[in-house]
Amino acid sequence: MLSSIKGCNVLVTGASKGIGKGIARVFAAQGANVLITARREKEVKNSAAELRDAGGSVQHCVADVGRWEDVQRMVDTMVETFGGLDILCSNAGIYPQTKMADMDMEEWDRVLGTNLKGAFMCVKAAMPELGKSGRGRVILTSSITGPVTGFPGWTHYGASKSGQLGFLKTAAMELAPLNVTINAVQPGNIITEGLEGLGEDYLATMAASIPLKRLGSVEDIGNAALFFASQEAAYITGQAIVVDGGQILPESVEALEEM
Ligand code: NAP
Repeated sequence: MLSSIKGCNVLVTGASKGIGKGIARVFAAQGANVLITARREKEVKNSAAELRDAGGSVQHCVADVGRWEDVQRMVDTMVETFGGLDILCSNAGIYPQTKMADMDMEEWDRVLGTNLKGAFMCVKAAMPELGKSGRGRVILTSSITGPVTGFPGWTHYGASKSGQLGFLKTAAMELAPLNVTINAVQPGNIITEGLEGLGEDYLATMAASIPLKRLGSVEDIGNAALFFASQEAAYITGQAIVVDGGQILPESVEALEEM
């Protein structure tokens, strides 16, 4: 059993739905105070209310991680609402699927601006408060796509998710003097509203290609984030853990068929 994070102050970006909401649910169930953020007010407000109805100490804030003023205001809101910040889950991300031949520069910039620059800005803005915490933690939601695998249509996305892992190595060294750790979770295919939008055929094909024969749940990712946030993980920094049901393991279709 992991030590308690009860009473810790947790900020989860991109948490009106999907993995971020799952992370928020896992932390709230452990007794943490959680601020969830997203761009659309109605959705993030409703999600906070839903998590409160389930017994969590959860508030919301409207902020775009791609805008520095929003990110600073988000951290200010965290401090005003809960008195400080112990754990930042930098999760907000987008994954439009467009092959290079059809991709315009705006889309490339938007994906890198949200997923990579957005993560950098969230960490930068949160640093002073995480330093005051004495047990500060950052958990990035990266991906297997980019660092480990490829998928047509996701050159920008893969670059952003690999970029997050490059960022965290040096960020870990700069945060260490503050006693703040930074690690990443690399989800495989997790069932979320965003992924459901890719269609039933896609979901069925993905499940069949996973050794554990199911897509992941948002709680699978929340539990990995919870481990990085625990006291037991205090000596781990600059690392990433793949949470994918074994998806990246088969070296060929034949390897899967041999199972
Ligand atoms: P999702 O279901 O589409 O939810 C994305 C969340 O992020 C929403 O709350 C969205 O709300 C918010 N968001 C998007 N852009 C934002 C911005 N600029 N500023 C603030 N919030 C923003 O996505 P998901 O599948 O849960 O993915 C979450 C993270 O996990 C992403 O980083 C993604 O790359 C990563 N991931 C997902 C999977 C998967 O299988 N689902 C696999 C690997 C990695 P608004 O639109 O209202 O802002």
